[in-house]
Amino acid sequence: MFPAAWRSILDENVPPCRSLPESLRAVFEKHVRVFLDEKRFEGCGGLEVTDEMRVTVAGHACLLLLHDPDGYYPRLGTVVIYPESFATPIRATDHVGIVTETVEERLGESWEEGTVVLAWDSIQEVIRGGSGDCNVIIHEFAHQIDAQRKLSAGRPLLTQGDCRNWEELLAAEQRRQRTAFRRGRPSVLDPYAFTSPEELFAVASETFFMRPVRFKNNHSELYTELRTVYGVDPAEWIITQHVPCIPR
Ligand SMILES: [Zn+2]
Repeated sequence: MFPAAWRSILDENVPPCRSLPESLRAVFEKHVRVFLDEKRFEGCGGLEVTDEMRVTVAGHACLLLLHDPDGYYPRLGTVVIYPESFATPIRATDHVGIVTETVEERLGESWEEGTVVLAWDSIQEVIRGGSGDCNVIIHEFAHQIDAQRKLSAGRPLLTQGDCRNWEELLAAEQRRQRTAFRRGRPSVLDPYAFTSPEELFAVASETFFMRPVRFKNNHSELYTELRTVYGVDPAEWIITQHVPCIPR
């Protein structure tokens, strides 16, 4: 039996869960259980990891695995949680070899060597609905999937559209954004999406689950590609929930 307390946490704290069809519930809960069994959680900066934190992170991570045949984030060992945004040292070398070191504030990070780092206050913003369509947990776990399956790193797209890979999809989305901006219409996607193919994949994954209908209507090619990557259609979850009553 899946614990009732965990089910309540998923419904309360994982926004896309509220429209998850009953037919996917059992597989979703199975994934959450395996994820919690397999992955280690570590609190940093004085934070003590609670069940609510573990289940909230696992719930978001497992939305991305509903039809994933490649296991439970096989490279990931540990999820680290800070109480709030954390400082990360950035080391950069310019074209003449001069090294500069700066510190950046981060809400989350995904390391290819097996760690996802998250800030609990940013997760609470997602739960409260204060972060709009942004979802730091989905973002970082999308980076894990991308790195594992090498999707944005030049491989052909899974669907046959006008674009052949994520580089071309990014260029097409940048053109679309410029046109929308000229017409005074803000993009459905956070501007950070247009900085690289990796970030387009991660940000689009957030919007795919958080605002699927609007995303599908405005970015059909990108939506179709993500529907193929994740094997689910969140816009359908919402549409089928709102079937209008037919008067008798
Ligand atoms: Zn990112």
